[in-house]
Amino acid sequence: MARKPLIAGNWKMNNTIAQAVVLTQEISNIFESDWADTVDVAICPPFVDLKPAKTVLEFDKTKISIGAQNVYWEPSGAFTGEISIPMLKDIGCDYCIVGHSERRTLFHETNEDVNNKVRALLADKVQPIHPIVCVGESLAVRDEGTYIDFVDAQVRAAFAGTDEIDAKDAVVAYEPIWAIGTGRTATPDQAQEVCAAIRATLADLFGAECAEGIRVLYGGSMNEGNAEMLLAQPDIDGGLIGGASLKAASFVDIVKAAL
Ligand code: PEP
Repeated sequence: MARKPLIAGNWKMNNTIAQAVVLTQEISNIFESDWADTVDVAICPPFVDLKPAKTVLEFDKTKISIGAQNVYWEPSGAFTGEISIPMLKDIGCDYCIVGHSERRTLFHETNEDVNNKVRALLADKVQPIHPIVCVGESLAVRDEGTYIDFVDAQVRAAFAGTDEIDAKDAVVAYEPIWAIGTGRTATPDQAQEVCAAIRATLADLFGAECAEGIRVLYGGSMNEGNAEMLLAQPDIDGGLIGGASLKAASFVDIVKAAL
C-alpha cells in the first residue's frame, strides 16, 4: 500500500506570535498547492502560536496543517498549565506530537503518560487529531545494541489498550535521541532498520494490513541535504523536522524531497 508521506515541522519552544506569523507566511508563500496531492505537510508551533499560524494558512488557503507539540488527556478540569484535546480541535489542529524525547527526559513524561495521550487522541473518530508518537533510543542504548528491543517496548507501551481501528489514525516517529539537534543524522540504513522494526511491531499488534497503512517518520537532524536519501527508504514515510523547520526555505526543500 502506498503511504502518503508526511513532513512535520517541530518548532519546539521557538518563535513569538509575530515571528510565527512571519515564518508561516514565508512557508505559505513558497508552498505550491498541488504538492498537497503528494505529500501531507504540518507545522507544529508552540501553543500560543497555533491560532495565528492557522489564521495565516486559512487566509492563504494553503494546504498545510497545524499540529501541537503536547496535550493533556483529560477534556477539562483542574489541571493548571495543561491544554486539552477539545482546545486543540477548536483551533483546528490535525496533529499532535506525543512523547517527544525532550518531554520524556526534561519533563519526566513516562510511557504511561504517553499511552494516556495516545488513547485520548485516538478515541475521537469523527475529527481525529493524529498523534505523532515519538520513540527512540539514547546513545547508551544504541551502543549496547539493544535499540530494537527498546523501541519495540516503547511502541507497545504507547499503543497499549488500542486496537487497529484506533491505530490506523496514528503516526509514529523514530527519533534516535543521539541524532536530535546534534547534526549527527542516522544513516539511511540505520533509520530504515528501526523504522522497519517499528512496522513489524505494529503488524504484530494490529495486523499487517493496518501496519502497512501507518506512517512511520524519521526525525533527527534531517535537513535539505540528507532528506532525499532518508525518504527513499521503504519504511520511512516522512520526517519530523526540528531545527531545519525554523527556516522556510530549508523546510520547503525537505517537503520537495518528499514529492
Ligand atoms: C525533533 O526535535 O523532533 C528533531 C528531529 O529535531 P532536529 O531536527 O533539530 O534534530
